[in-house]
Amino acid sequence: MARYKDASCKLCRREGEKLFLKGQRCYTAKCAIARRSFAPGQHGQGRKKLSEYGVQLREKQKTRRFYGVLEGQFRKTYAKADKMKGKTGENLLQLIELRMDNVIYRMGFADSRAQARQLVNHGHFTVNGRRADIPSMYLGMGDVVAVKDKSKSSSKFQDLSERVVPKWLSVNTENMTGTVVALPAREDVDLDVKEHLIVELYSK
Ligand code: SF4
Repeated sequence: MARYKDASCKLCRREGEKLFLKGQRCYTAKCAIARRSFAPGQHGQGRKKLSEYGVQLREKQKTRRFYGVLEGQFRKTYAKADKMKGKTGENLLQLIELRMDNVIYRMGFADSRAQARQLVNHGHFTVNGRRADIPSMYLGMGDVVAVKDKSKSSSKFQDLSERVVPKWLSVNTENMTGTVVALPAREDVDLDVKEHLIVELYSK
């Protein structure tokens, strides 16, 4: 499976804001954005004004990187969103929020989306009682995610984070289960994104 292998903090520095890719470290003074809030590379401190295309591109890259989705998958999700009823940009964000790796992270079973992806890949979860190890699978309303019985004693789940769970999810930390109780709405997306710019970019 293809994945981004370079330093995660470079992505935040490129986008000029925190994308919270490294779990707890992102909330400490060690955060690279706090220490070097300019783009990486030789010309990182002397950036030019962006063109219209550049602004659209950055918005798409920021969103993609925030959710840890590679370009091919992001485009496929966009194509799916485009075929749905309603606003394409909002559909896109809703679909990405419903990815299994994002749901696991948002439920507090992982410190970051990258960690959630790894935990899913390693087969620690079930969905509606069946093994589910594909991080990109979309969940739907009523789906129940659970940490497998065998994995419940793992140190990975001993200290479940106290993240505030969005209202479209409900979590039972004792049973280590979570349910998608509603579809995520636009205001549930915790990234400052102008999705219409992504639609403009892909509509060219
Ligand atoms: Fe981004 Fe987290 Fe690295 Fe800070 S510590 S630059 S928020 S990945």
